[in-house]
Amino acid sequence: MTNAPHNAAAPHNAAAPHNAAAPNNPAARGNAADSAPDTAAFPPETIAALETIAHTPKLLVALDFDGTLSPLHDAPMEARSTPEGVAAVAALAALPNTVVAFVSGRSMNDLRIIAEHAEDSPVYLAGSHGAEVRPPEGFEPAVGAEITSAEAESDAAAEEALRDELYEAAVSQFSAVPGAWIEPKRFGFGVHVRLASPADGEAVMAGTDALVAERAPHWRRRTGKNIVEYAFRHEGKDTALAALREQTGATAVFFAGDDVTDEDALRTLGAGDLGVRVGGGESVAKVHVSDPEALAQLLDVLVRLRATSQS
Ligand SMILES: [Mg+2]
Repeated sequence: MTNAPHNAAAPHNAAAPHNAAAPNNPAARGNAADSAPDTAAFPPETIAALETIAHTPKLLVALDFDGTLSPLHDAPMEARSTPEGVAAVAALAALPNTVVAFVSGRSMNDLRIIAEHAEDSPVYLAGSHGAEVRPPEGFEPAVGAEITSAEAESDAAAEEALRDELYEAAVSQFSAVPGAWIEPKRFGFGVHVRLASPADGEAVMAGTDALVAERAPHWRRRTGKNIVEYAFRHEGKDTALAALREQTGATAVFFAGDDVTDEDALRTLGAGDLGVRVGGGESVAKVHVSDPEALAQLLDVLVRLRATSQS
């Protein structure tokens, strides 16, 4: 998948691709405040929290994608990270003792497309809430840790047949409702009502709830912003983050997300970790930022603090 249309929209990026920046050498980075982090945009307690986590021996930076690195998009496959987010992620991933992971509800296939993930990318991908994982080339799990594969399930075939049946049933019953979209997913299906009227949205969700309750009561149900999702795999972002923490041997975790499913991960964070909520809504996160642009700025501060601590 080409990334040309996205990068073409980044005005400061026409001459040099983000990846050409040398994150270990702040002077080589293209941003305005090269020598010191741009801390003015954040409260002092946020900067203090970033400073603490930047000094951890082994840092895991785990990020949701939609609504966190990328603004939410009416056409889901057109979601892309902000250019500033792309730059911050590349810079973090290039630092020593620092692993960046995307932890998304998207299927691996879709996540690779929207994240514009190159074969040799250093970013660790966890799709389908962690039920599908793709470590970067050459990734060595920490001692004692295992990378579990989604393909190992023994009863997958029966569940896949049920998935196809329920997807077809949901499409035939609800896809004619204006603004409703039934999304086929690797381990189930999703129901999107972002573009439907509130009454239609509620009716469709009640209908698919009833369908799944009757025929697949053992499936996991998750809700998000104008979406409900049903899956035969029960992994959540909590288990995804726990697995990443173990595999990377991280001594501290930075996690950012914008939605209900991200709260599962945020609730697992300990005293030495740092959780960030992007956008509004109830959250257990310590730090709140307004949108993906603000998160990219926060990540940029983390890049600079981490680069200093690792040099
Ligand atoms: Mg999200």
